[in-house]
Amino acid sequence: MPLYAYHCPECSDFEFSCPMGSAPGSLPCPACGAPSPRRFTAPNLSRTSSSAYQLIERTQRSAAEPDVVRSPAPGPRTGAQNITTNPLHRKLPRPD
Ligand SMILES: [Zn+2]
Repeated sequence: MPLYAYHCPECSDFEFSCPMGSAPGSLPCPACGAPSPRRFTAPNLSRTSSSAYQLIERTQRSAAEPDVVRSPAPGPRTGAQNITTNPLHRKLPRPD
């Protein structure tokens, strides 16, 4: 259920959770009981769990300064070993 914000003129702001679309326009303050009108705030939508948002954030972060890699990625290495299967290549000189 979403949280709705209310502003008590005597105390401070408080929040109230109720089903979407059924929030009353005014609630009594839980501390002093004064009628508190509802505050309208920007929706607090969480996008951090979205993989698309993580990709956008990572792209923006690495746009000016690329990520520094200190070691190769873990896992089996691919390539650079037994690339050729031509037996004539074995006769070529090898670096020491
Ligand atoms: Zn109050």
